[in-house]
Amino acid sequence: MADPRGFLNIEQQKATPRPVHQRIKDFNELYQPMPVESVRAQASRCMDCGVPFCHSGCPLGNLIPDWNELVHRNRWQEALVALHDTNNFPEFTGKTCPAPCEASCVLALSGAAVTIKDIEAAIVDRGWEMGWIVARPPARETGKSVAIVGSGPAGLAAAQQLRRAGHTVTVYERDDRAGGLLAYGIPDFKMAKVYVERRIDQLEAEGVRFILNAEIGRTIDPHELRGRHDAILLTIGATVSRDLEIPGKDLRGIELAMPFLTQQNRRNLGTMNGETPILATGKNVIVIGGGDTAADCLGTCHRQQARSVMQLDYNPRPPEGENPDTPWPLWPKVLRITPAHEEGGKRDWQIKTKTFVGDDRGHVKELHAVRVYQYFDEAGERQFEEVHGSELIFPCELVLLAIGFSGPENGLPQALGLALTEQGVIRCNHQYMTNQEGVFAAGDCRRGQSLVVWAIAEGREAARHIDHYLTGQPSTLRARDRSLVQIEPLPLAVPSL
Ligand SMILES: Cc1cc2nc3c(=O)[nH]c(=O)nc-3n(C[C@H](O)[C@H](O)[C@H](O)COP(=O)(O)OP(=O)(O)OC[C@H]3O[C@@H](n4cnc5c(N)ncnc54)[C@H](O)[C@@H]3O)c2cc1C
Ligand code: SF4
Repeated sequence: MADPRGFLNIEQQKATPRPVHQRIKDFNELYQPMPVESVRAQASRCMDCGVPFCHSGCPLGNLIPDWNELVHRNRWQEALVALHDTNNFPEFTGKTCPAPCEASCVLALSGAAVTIKDIEAAIVDRGWEMGWIVARPPARETGKSVAIVGSGPAGLAAAQQLRRAGHTVTVYERDDRAGGLLAYGIPDFKMAKVYVERRIDQLEAEGVRFILNAEIGRTIDPHELRGRHDAILLTIGATVSRDLEIPGKDLRGIELAMPFLTQQNRRNLGTMNGETPILATGKNVIVIGGGDTAADCLGTCHRQQARSVMQLDYNPRPPEGENPDTPWPLWPKVLRITPAHEEGGKRDWQIKTKTFVGDDRGHVKELHAVRVYQYFDEAGERQFEEVHGSELIFPCELVLLAIGFSGPENGLPQALGLALTEQGVIRCNHQYMTNQEGVFAAGDCRRGQSLVVWAIAEGREAARHIDHYLTGQPSTLRARDRSLVQIEPLPLAVPSL
């Protein structure tokens, strides 16, 4: 145990974001690194509980009490080893994870949890600074070859694991840059792209081959791919955005969130490729949706200097602080105030969009909506009813739709003859294999749009099963094994996007 009285004597201290007036002028990262001594003090708050609920809160099963103790004792390099034991890319999670582990920390029962995510980020940042993170190519080659389609966190984690097991690994990515939503999706102010580039360099140094601008099913025949490799892993994400089919939807100025966010990533990287710019600058913007993607749109609108931003949600305003429906150690369904919300804009709940109205140039100028109230019918099903006389009109020149994602794109799964679930994601057995021999799937395309931490966890688990499939031997790759328990999304870790 780090310090038997640490949790009694030391107050929780979290990494602080840069001041609002400064950060909304750029797309640089929000958070400033914490001083080393503060991180050590925070790590000493860990009680090393007999039953560490944070382990099950974390989809990767990160060995949290172990590295907390090592950090407290100033043994950072060993902490880094313990962290990498279960997580290939702790900086991705240290920057972006909503930290379900902290919600299930025993200290959260009566007060403030250990700041697990900040400590994780500090360990890996120090690892890079000190030059402790290096390429680890395999000691022997198996002669087996794996194709990974898609280079998001699931594909990257699987690639590193499989390569380290000695297999030849080729990652095919349709974009001009590897990283999936980490590169083109998640705003730079949440995670700078340099972290992704550094890991791609590490993977290449370990022998992973990346083929960019290669869309399987369009530029490369999927059957040819099957002929070339001993196994295929699809990590193609769940990028089909849900749309809003209401009158006026086709007016100009009504956009899906993803092209808007991706364009800003491209603008920052200097890789815009001739598409029509979608910009909030000087506009009254409506963001429709209540999850993290909507919050990312909000933060991006502030930085593009929108005139005003209003975020509208169909659902009721969640309770603040605690929610009796989601008691500890479950992920609490409570009001989330992200740094983007602290930067400005307004939010409203229980709003149903009815119609978009355009000007004479065919451009959106108003959103007409109505208030709804939620009730539960006799069967316990949630229902909404419109409030009579509550019509609302929101003037707007840009509307961003951030109402979720339905699943992987059509095309490749069909070309390979893969079965889908009722939810429209790729159906797999408990070994992550699809209905086609030797074709596996992991990450969002298997579980639906989720989290970076889940994508890494699935990539690692799929790699372990693929290794077993290729060698016929029990795999020595380490991964949390859910195959005997449950691999469907767990209620502990489903913060909404
Ligand atoms: C705007 C936004 C913000 C988010 N913010 C967070 C956050 O803060 N924290 C968090 O934990 N999670 C966040 N998420 C969710 C997280 O990014 C995803 O859960 C995660 O990236 C899924 O990883 P993946 O590897 O399964 O797929 P993806 O990251 O989606 O990667 C899939 C890759 O496959 C490629 N691909 C698809 N089809 C083909 C093909 N036929 N051939 C070749 N390549 C192909 C795509 O180009 C893409 O690069 C966010 C998601 C969005 C949309
Ligand atoms: S990956 Fe996420 S859930 Fe796991 S320890 Fe890190 S912050 Fe917590």
